[in-house]
Amino acid sequence: MSLSFHLYQLQKLDSQVRQATQRMGEINLLLNQNELLLKAQKHLDDAAEAQENIRGKLREIEISAYNKRIKMEQSEAALYGGTVKNPKELQDLQTEIALLKKTIGQIEDTQLELMVAAEDSDQNYREAEAHLNTVKAEQASKHSTLTGELKTLRSLLDRLEIERNALLPQINPGLLESYNQLRAAKKGLAVAAVDEDCCPACGSTLTAAEIQSARATAKIVNCPTCGRILYAG
Ligand SMILES: [Zn+2]
Repeated sequence: MSLSFHLYQLQKLDSQVRQATQRMGEINLLLNQNELLLKAQKHLDDAAEAQENIRGKLREIEISAYNKRIKMEQSEAALYGGTVKNPKELQDLQTEIALLKKTIGQIEDTQLELMVAAEDSDQNYREAEAHLNTVKAEQASKHSTLTGELKTLRSLLDRLEIERNALLPQINPGLLESYNQLRAAKKGLAVAAVDEDCCPACGSTLTAAEIQSARATAKIVNCPTCGRILYAG
């Protein structure tokens, strides 16, 4: 067994740890993302506000229409009741009734428009509510998948740590130190397994002699180009 064998095993474990840790970071970010939910909630709040606004206007206009009708009934009762005899007063009553009729007609037109707008706002509200529920359901399902993945990654990390702890005592402390230094300097990859006649980490071609030395059990050979420890099975 070559000297680099255990280092290569360690590198494989460490790469897995690194990958799992990165993925866990991504998952935590994803779990904290709730822009879509906030947006859907805001949309629903706005729809509710618009709905309430139109309903308020409708209530006001209904009261106004009711008051005008009462006023008109009173004026009509006065006009036809026979108590008012004065032609000028009768004339004034007729003018007033005509004006009230016109006003009531205008109010009813506005009322109709508001009723249509109210139906639209009800529809908007129902759609916003349904959308929010969809977003909530999708998020819940996504969260459950991500939480499951997180759990799997946690047990993977536990297992890797056990394997790592079992492996470490088999590695010479000096080698371990250069391994750690290389890992820190080379983006987490200190050991490269020779692929055909290349260093897979940097792609440079290795001579037959270099590969032969890497295979030898007695020493550690580094890639002449990138400096990584070569492992040649
Ligand atoms: Zn290399």
